[in-house]
Amino acid sequence: MMSDNDSTGPGPAALARQAPSGPRPAAPLIDIGINLAHDSYDADRDSVIARAAAAGVVQMIVTGSCAASSRAALSLARQHPGRLFATAGVHPHHATEVTAAALAELTELTREPQVVAVGECGLDYYRNYSPHEAQRQAFHRQLELAARCGKPVFLHQRDSHADFIAILREHWPALTGGVAHCFTGGAAELECYLELGLAIGITGWICDERRGAHLLELVRRIPAERLLLETDGPYLLPRDLQPKPPSRRNEPVYLPHIAAVVAGARGEPAEALARASTEAARRLFHIPGIDFNKSL
Ligand SMILES: [Zn+2]
Repeated sequence: MMSDNDSTGPGPAALARQAPSGPRPAAPLIDIGINLAHDSYDADRDSVIARAAAAGVVQMIVTGSCAASSRAALSLARQHPGRLFATAGVHPHHATEVTAAALAELTELTREPQVVAVGECGLDYYRNYSPHEAQRQAFHRQLELAARCGKPVFLHQRDSHADFIAILREHWPALTGGVAHCFTGGAAELECYLELGLAIGITGWICDERRGAHLLELVRRIPAERLLLETDGPYLLPRDLQPKPPSRRNEPVYLPHIAAVVAGARGEPAEALARASTEAARRLFHIPGIDFNKSL
């Protein structure tokens, strides 16, 4: 494990200058969905974390999307206690991997205090990398796991709303909440999720004038105490970033940019939005507070 304190490299402020993202928000932010175990971060993961912290993104939840990445997410959370947290679950793309052995391993992972949610799990009928029936079974099993361990669910849904909501409704009474991560749907889907009691995760999709413009209006309908912010990096680099990083890789340092776009769309001060969404994330995932000004 690399200690953050004996680093002789550039400090967080210098790192932040390498990837400018606009002004530091007046309130700390939590990136609730970052695929930080992804190999695109292998060369500079510690700098990614430092840049994010310098930009006010003080904590992050590292997404697990298969057994291996869930293990990796937990390992990252252990290396950065209080700053990084993890989810443990299997993405619908990998639904056929949800065997009894994999479920036993996920069960073990969810016993760890750094694992704050089960997922990402759900249904994806857009890419169809796994048969629908396998996806539904894997979703059921992970919702059962979430009910057993008492942790919220981190949900993925694409082009599968009817099946998704039917399965989720069946398990909902036994669950302790959840988030519809990377929400990109329409008004009817949003109403349905809000009515059920889900939190809504908004990514840089909202910055995409070609396919995300509808979200500018829809985010106004999300109660502040259920609006969460995420980058979903390395994916979904906000399209309106100026300048764009040459790598086109998304990273948590851009979360303040997404927060500013969401706040603008809601006609709210950025600080109020940041404060509310951070509180909402802490409440849902039971993430402890951290001293905003504490050095890395
Ligand atoms: Zn997803």
